[in-house]
Amino acid sequence: MEAREQGNERYTRLVRGCFRSGGYIFAGKAGDIARERGISRIARLASNENPSPPSPGAIALGCAALKEANRYPDESMELLLQRLRQTYGSYQFVTGVGMDGVIETLIRILVNPGDKVAVATPTFSFYGIAARAQSAKVFSVQRKEDYSVDPAVFIDAAQDAKISFLCSPNNPTGTVTPPGVIDEILAGIDGILFLDNAYVEFSDIDYLPLMNTYENLVIGRTMSKAYALAGARIGYAFVPAWVLPYYRRASTPFTLNSVSAQAAIGALGDSEAMKRYVTHVRRWRERLLCECAFTAAPSDANFIMVDVSPWTGDAMVRELALRGIIVRSCASFPGLPDHFIRVSIGDEWENDLFLKEIRAIREADTDRSSKGPDLP
Ligand SMILES: *Cc1c(COP(=O)(O)O)cnc(C)c1O
Repeated sequence: MEAREQGNERYTRLVRGCFRSGGYIFAGKAGDIARERGISRIARLASNENPSPPSPGAIALGCAALKEANRYPDESMELLLQRLRQTYGSYQFVTGVGMDGVIETLIRILVNPGDKVAVATPTFSFYGIAARAQSAKVFSVQRKEDYSVDPAVFIDAAQDAKISFLCSPNNPTGTVTPPGVIDEILAGIDGILFLDNAYVEFSDIDYLPLMNTYENLVIGRTMSKAYALAGARIGYAFVPAWVLPYYRRASTPFTLNSVSAQAAIGALGDSEAMKRYVTHVRRWRERLLCECAFTAAPSDANFIMVDVSPWTGDAMVRELALRGIIVRSCASFPGLPDHFIRVSIGDEWENDLFLKEIRAIREADTDRSSKGPDLP
């Protein structure tokens, strides 16, 4: 035992500082609380997934590809690239294991130890995690009080960054940054802007015309949210042509597995299910905003961020888990006060259950405070 621990220390000393603590935070723990309580039907509103299975086309092509999975994939991903061009027009694309994989590869291409990476904050944590893993200096650029991005402030901070990250619609606030602001930023910075469009299908905004004007814009997309393929790990990005040879060198030899690539082709060719889900999300996010017993901000994504004060986000996550609902605390998003939760738009029954339970929590609070602490 002792020898093993000594041995461990001997080798764990070799681990780089950036991996000694921290890391991506998953929503798992709240699920355990609900299961321990014996709740079998859990509303899963923590990870912004599409609650429906992948489209029939995605399932058919993915299953067919599994039958030939003894062979390596086509490393050029030509069929998927063709399908992407059919869907969006004649842009250049790169693919990756989730958008996370694309982000990691781009950072590997651009960032030397000590280089600057700027991030519009509060936002998705993986940009900072991936940049620190490449020994970047990460600069948070705080969004305004309404979570909008001030282009002058952003340019000032991101001017000399190798790569900057801006998420729109933003996770977890739901805020959209208008294309005019992105345009101004692209003209004002020296480095690359990674515009994370994980939720763009749920908004009315189209940033693609900017791809024709700027050589320093990368637009990241994922099939994990609108396209119901989170488990298949499929990400892609619109890139300027100069990126392509470098991306090929810096990525792992096969950017996507053949099953996921075929599932993606199926899903893109069969987008009715996606459109139905987007309609469902748009209808429900208005309803959740109106009927939620706590204040929520307008959102252009498939989730809403709810101000649960005087509760903390963590305490509310626990309380909702006891009632069979898993949501995400925003306490792990740097730059945000600790009294927010993020709630995905789920199936009808999940949304109804959330509204009912959050109302019950609010009413219990009100009863308690109207009684006063000293009354019997
Ligand atoms: C979910 C999410 C991603 C990652 O998506 P994957 O393709 O599943 O890796 C990227 N950015 C944001 C803002 C997200 O919320």
